Parts: sequence; C-alpha cells; structure tokens
Amino acid sequence: MDKAKAVLLIADGLGDRPIKELGNKTPLEAAEKPNLNKLAAEGECGLMDPIAPGIRAGSDTSHLAILGYDPYTYYTGRGPFEAAGIGMDVKKGDVAFRCNFSTVDDNMLITDRRAGRINSGTDQLAAAVNGMKLSNGVEVIFKESVAHRGALILRAPGLGADITDTDPHHEGAKVLTAEPIEPTDVPSSITAAAVNEFVRKSYEILKDHPVNKERIAQGLNPANIILPRGGGIGPNMESFEDEHGLKAACVAETGLINGVARYIGMEITEVPEATGGPDSNLIAMAKAIVERLSEVDFVLCNVKGTDVAGHDDAPQVKIDMVKKLDEMIGYLMANLPANTFLVLTADHSTPCAIKDHSGDPVPIVFWGEGVRTDRCDCFGERCVTSGGLGRIRGIAVMNIITQLMNVQEKFGA
Ligand code: ZN
Ligand code: ZN
Repeated sequence: MDKAKAVLLIADGLGDRPIKELGNKTPLEAAEKPNLNKLAAEGECGLMDPIAPGIRAGSDTSHLAILGYDPYTYYTGRGPFEAAGIGMDVKKGDVAFRCNFSTVDDNMLITDRRAGRINSGTDQLAAAVNGMKLSNGVEVIFKESVAHRGALILRAPGLGADITDTDPHHEGAKVLTAEPIEPTDVPSSITAAAVNEFVRKSYEILKDHPVNKERIAQGLNPANIILPRGGGIGPNMESFEDEHGLKAACVAETGLINGVARYIGMEITEVPEATGGPDSNLIAMAKAIVERLSEVDFVLCNVKGTDVAGHDDAPQVKIDMVKKLDEMIGYLMANLPANTFLVLTADHSTPCAIKDHSGDPVPIVFWGEGVRTDRCDCFGERCVTSGGLGRIRGIAVMNIITQLMNVQEKFGA
C-alpha cells in the first residue's frame, strides 16, 4: 500500500449559532453541501473544542492546539507568528512584535496611527531602521508587511517579553513608554528599554527620510515613527516533523497561520488566487494541496473567508463560502492520492450574531481508508453529534490522524 498521507483542512471560524432569518439554522446547516454531507456519511464525525469547552480561541492558539502543541505552554503572543508569517527568521528567545508605521507631530502626539494607510516605500523605510544596534547589545531586525504594517525582532540573550505597549491604540494620544509589567522583571525591563530606544530612533531616522519628504510634498501623512505591540518571546517548540514524524507543508491565506506553520518548520505554499476573503479561489488551493502531497506527508490548509463572513455578520456570505468549501471538498475527494486521510474542521466558531470568536465547539470529520464510518450523514454543528467521535479536544486531533496513518509510536509494550 502507498505510504499514508493526510490533509487537515481548517475552515476558519466556520462554526456558528442558529440564526432566526435562516429558520434557526446555522449558515453551515442552511447551505447546500452535497460533498460535505458525503464526507460526513463516509467518515467519522463529532464535535471538537479547539482548546477546551467554552474557551474562546484565537486562530493562532487554536491552530497550535490542533497541531499538537498545547497553547498554554507555547503561546507567548502573536508577535513571533506575525513576524514568521512575513518570512522573518524568528529564533527561540527572540522577542517579536507586530508594528504600525504611524504619524506623530513634534510632541510625539499621534495624528494618524496608520500613516495615511501608506502603501509604497515602506520597504525603504524598513531598510533604514533594520540592523540598528541598541544599548545592551540588542540587535534590531525589522521588516515591512502589507500597507502600514511591519514586524520587529529584538535579539539578545536574556530578553523578556512581559511589557506594556507603546501604541495607545487611538489618535490624539502621545506615544506611550513601554514598561515591564512587573517592575522586578529584569529581562522584560531590558526589552522595554530597547523598545523605547527603538521607537525614539525610528522617529529620528524616519522623520527626514526621502520617502517621507516626498509624502509631505504630496500632502500625505509621513510614516515617521514605528510603534511595536503584541510582543512575545519566540517559543521553544519542536518542529512539526520532529514532533509527529511527518514532512509537512501549509497552504494558507493569512500571515498569522503561515507564521505558525513556518515557525514549526512547515513549507509555505503561495497560491496567488487565494485572497483571504470570500472571493478566494478554493479550487486553486485544493490543486495546490494535491500538488504538495507529491513531496510531503501532510498538508495543513486554512480557508479564511468563513471567518471574515462571521466577523462581518454576513450569514449569506458565510453560506456562499460553505458552497465553495463544498466544491473544494468535492475536488479533494476525487483527486487526493490513494491512502490519504482528509480531516475537515474549524479553528473556532465565529457566530455572525456576535461578530467575533465564541467558545462554541465546532464540527469535525475524519475521512479515509479504515475510518470507522458512523451513523452521521451530514456535516453541521448539530448533526455531527450523532457521530462516533463524541466530543474531542483540538490537542487530540494529531494523535487521531497519526494513528489512522499508522505512523504513531506505541505507548507501552
Ligand atoms: Zn480563526
Ligand atoms: Zn476571526
């Protein structure tokens, strides 16, 4: 038999709550989805609590759990994954931040947190601050991301990450001074001092930068300061291959998910037609998954549009996304190589009614050769409760996959 392979497909924020206008069905329940129902009928179904019952999961913490890494042990903040997601090489012990290019006046008063939503020249601004040396030998690695965003890595032995933000999160306020959350936390006070020095120097370097002189001449807000936030220390995690014995690739649409995947050593696959929104081309993503399986054992895929629809309180958009997901599953069921397991689930619920993530469990199905097919024959939040899995936690998913693939080491004699 061919060596077993697996695809873990996560429809971001797919879970929802009953909606009156949909006859008290969820968008997943209301959508036409012949392929999803076929997957459920042939597979083993159940509910999953991504982290634990009732816990409102973020996409990053949930993906960590589902990939077999307890987020309570490994999650330090989204900074390291945001930085890894734009291709930065985050090392264990680095402190990484998400950043905004912003506009301040001479008194450090923020006049525009997004620097006029600057969309060109940030590569030159980034190059001007990247590589600067700070006091205490702290090294600076900075890279621009899309629009006004970027990421910062501070590198030195013995840094901490428990500090307050410099970004006051609204305009008309002064840039804040980063401080250690616990005054006696020496590693974090070194980081706080480095952040404050970085912010001050970013202003000194950027205020007269040619890109900003040009912006001012055009009547645009200059990107004259960089404000870091959401700092976290690069966690000490085994690679996915060392942890599970599987060579893996990721097909995802957001920097955050690509960052989680890259941090644990998965190969990142760019799909130009994947937009991260409801207009994304999921068949192009499905084709990329099938292609990657010729080189790797495992593909993680995240489809983002379902979560976007939930945040936007757009049930019809979510229904349309389920239809596209259904076509994607149809393509995968027909085109996956022999002896490939397919797992479909969500990283959390994003109910339209609350426009954010909730702690409601999500449906999950395992499909492939040898799976114990159960009585459940439809894929929805409520009908999967008739399935054989019962209610599992995210941290169990990789165990179930690797034992189905027969690649897991035995516990005991
Ligand atoms: Zn998510
Ligand atoms: Zn979300």
